[in-house]
Amino acid sequence: MILLDGKMVSEELNLKLKNKVDSFDVKPQLDIILIGNNPASLSYVKGKKKAASLVGITTNLHHLDENISQEEVERLINSLNQDEKVDGILLQLPIPKHLDQEYLMDLIAYEKDPDGFHVVNQGKLFQKRKTIYPATPKGIMTLLDYYNIPIEGKSVVVVGRSNIVGMPISKMLLDRNATVTICHSKTKNIKEITKTADILVVAIGIPKFITKDMVKQDVVLVDVGINRVDEKLVGDADFDEIKDIASYITPVPKGVGPMTIHSLLFNTVLLYESKNTK
Ligand code: NDP
Repeated sequence: MILLDGKMVSEELNLKLKNKVDSFDVKPQLDIILIGNNPASLSYVKGKKKAASLVGITTNLHHLDENISQEEVERLINSLNQDEKVDGILLQLPIPKHLDQEYLMDLIAYEKDPDGFHVVNQGKLFQKRKTIYPATPKGIMTLLDYYNIPIEGKSVVVVGRSNIVGMPISKMLLDRNATVTICHSKTKNIKEITKTADILVVAIGIPKFITKDMVKQDVVLVDVGINRVDEKLVGDADFDEIKDIASYITPVPKGVGPMTIHSLLFNTVLLYESKNTK
């Protein structure tokens, strides 16, 4: 088994990105909007800020009160959209229920969307046009390519169909000529399907859902899940059970997570460069 070491790969790629950013006179700027004090979000934002600063990207954190009004958040996003200095705007999800998440995500200028979540950027992805790819799927593709894992012609099963992971990674793998099957909560006989996978991507948010009897020998397993169990982070697959069967496997943590952050920074630099070449 070979570990798909997202931590090591992201550190190497972040260093490359730093060398590029070092050559810029004006540094790229990423503004992060964090609403409330969700502990997981606080920790993700801390990680993003730290990685950005190592790469040389300036971050501004707008930490807003849990009870902030929709109008106030809209005002902030509008002002960041207009601000020439701002290259990327990240709305840390989830946001409190009283706010209209879809509306706010659409309000962020799609030219300032380093997460690649904007409906315009996702529309471009689904029409196979040049776009800003969503950070987690892009991180997964970068990791598979780093380890030279063949994709074309492979049987790929994606478990999960969210807008931020399952759907876009399915499309990106399809565009690389994999044969892709998507499973979800209403899929019947899921085990029969996951067992056919040469590459299995799991993004559902259920700890250790994928067990060893659900995968075939030599599977490439990409575990996107991050679940907190007894103060420890575990993935959507049972790593200990599957590691001896898999040819490649991502750990949780230190697998897809750091690759997502790398992609976010990579996308911020892309947005900066496209602004400056206009
Ligand atoms: P969502 O909750 O948006 O989507 C979950 C998906 O899983 C849905 O499509 C759902 O199906 C499916 N699902 C739920 N239960 C089952 C089941 N029993 N069998 C099959 N499919 C099921 O999750 P996200 O995509 O946002 O996140 C998934 C996981 O990945 C979470 O643990 C999250 O924390 C993690 N994550 C990690 C990131 C990283 O950087 N490593 C980044 C983003 C997310 P249905 O559509 O039918 O409801």
